[in-house]
Amino acid sequence: MRALLSVSDKTGLVDLARGLMALGAELVSTGGTARALRDAGLQVMDVSEITGFPEMLDGRVKTLHPVVHGGLLARRDLPGHMDAIAAHDIQPIDVVVVNLYPFRETAARPGATRDDVVEQIDIGGPSMLRSAAKNHDAVTVVVDPADYDEVLGVLRGAAAEDLRVLRRRLAAKVFAHTAAYDAAIAAWFAEQEGDRFPARLTLAVERAQGLRYGENPHQRAAFYVERRGAGLGALVQRGGKELSFNNLLDLEGALLATDPFADETRACCAIVKHTTPCGLAIGATAREAYEKALACDPTSAFGGIIALTVPVDDEAAESISRLFVECVVAPEFTPGAIETLGRKKNLRILEGRAPADPRALDVKRVRGGLLVQDRLPAVSVDDGWTVVTDRAPTDEELDDLRFAWRAVASVKSNAIVLARGGATIGIGAGQMSRVDASFLAGHKARQLGHDTAGTALASDAFFPFRDGVDQAAAAGVRAIVQPGGSVRDAEVVAAANEHGMAMVFTGVRLFRH
Ligand code: 5GP
Repeated sequence: MRALLSVSDKTGLVDLARGLMALGAELVSTGGTARALRDAGLQVMDVSEITGFPEMLDGRVKTLHPVVHGGLLARRDLPGHMDAIAAHDIQPIDVVVVNLYPFRETAARPGATRDDVVEQIDIGGPSMLRSAAKNHDAVTVVVDPADYDEVLGVLRGAAAEDLRVLRRRLAAKVFAHTAAYDAAIAAWFAEQEGDRFPARLTLAVERAQGLRYGENPHQRAAFYVERRGAGLGALVQRGGKELSFNNLLDLEGALLATDPFADETRACCAIVKHTTPCGLAIGATAREAYEKALACDPTSAFGGIIALTVPVDDEAAESISRLFVECVVAPEFTPGAIETLGRKKNLRILEGRAPADPRALDVKRVRGGLLVQDRLPAVSVDDGWTVVTDRAPTDEELDDLRFAWRAVASVKSNAIVLARGGATIGIGAGQMSRVDASFLAGHKARQLGHDTAGTALASDAFFPFRDGVDQAAAAGVRAIVQPGGSVRDAEVVAAANEHGMAMVFTGVRLFRH
């Protein structure tokens, strides 16, 4: 048996090599890998010995040779193939262990130059992997150190059927791996060219976790990440059951809701249901922010997901623990908070920060394709805002408008938010007409005992008619922030003036469909 080992990640290499030698394998290896094996006292041949060629061009050419690829690709069941390699003194290679240059890690490293990154495009490695995987009937190909033990186990067992099944599975893994590797290279090139939407889009994602089921129990599901340890995958679970599909979706919604408040000096808390906040507030402490957010709509908050922008201390945890919620996510938890929340066995506690990558693409699935767009840029306030009514907002109203505008960004369209004193008091979400969203925001606020007089209102898109404004005025709204841009803007502004309201146009629409 001949085994060729050429790995960048040397984890588990020596143990694997020992295991292969114990099975009678002769080891062939490339420069760094051979050195690591010799350092461990193992006997190994250099690839250059079998190819008769030195490694060249700073390692760009090491294994790209017919002796290697003939040994990998020859079909053992075809005499013609076996005669052909024998005629050239080529020996079959039975086991290939390769993992590739760390391209992705290098590309992600701050300060890496173009040359650094290009040099990390592995050429010989993927070629060997593909040759070996194509000939999986005869060759065992290993790309992941996590598989070393299993491979040794099956080789030791020497059961032909087990080996056949393993080789197929490993070959499938190779093609998934090299595809993802090339996708990462293609994505890097597109990024270098400033080509945000290249003719061919490649998304390199890997499975981080299987999920028990999807949005509904009869849908199968899994969670894929672009990069391990980033985004939602960076959150550390400190308690509670395994995350579900809907938990992950709602966590994204909760973080979207608090994102616009990242620079806020005060604490911000969002309580999210079905990806839309049912309460959002800022406060002097985590507890105050939470309780203000909860007060918006305590009925809907049941079973929700809570995101906080500040550490959860003992008193905030105490207050949160009185409500049934699915998850709490925050940058930190005090030990006391972990203890208090940890008593609730079903409550998933997630610690850490998962800022959105502003360069990441936003992708939505449609039948037969994907819709791809920029992520919604950070929501800004004041910039480009124009007062369009006779009356300008008071300082207090302006504060409420700034809050309401940042709040409405994460509410499903059509979205209307009523706010006062750094808290939402009525949210109208996901309605098919703006007037219904407006009605619902006021209705919910009153139903839950909030006084709507003197509130500020934010609308994610323009009012197409004056009816939404009339309704808001009837509910006691005194100031409105909205994008503007309707053909009936004049009618809408006139309505606001009639009611003595202040209205600000932002020039920016915040649809979230
Ligand atoms: P080593 O540390 O053993 O010197 O190099 C191992 C790495 O070299 C592995 O990641 C393997 O995929 C890569 N490699 C093996 N053969 C070639 C080749 O011919 N060209 C290039 N560019 N990389 C190769």
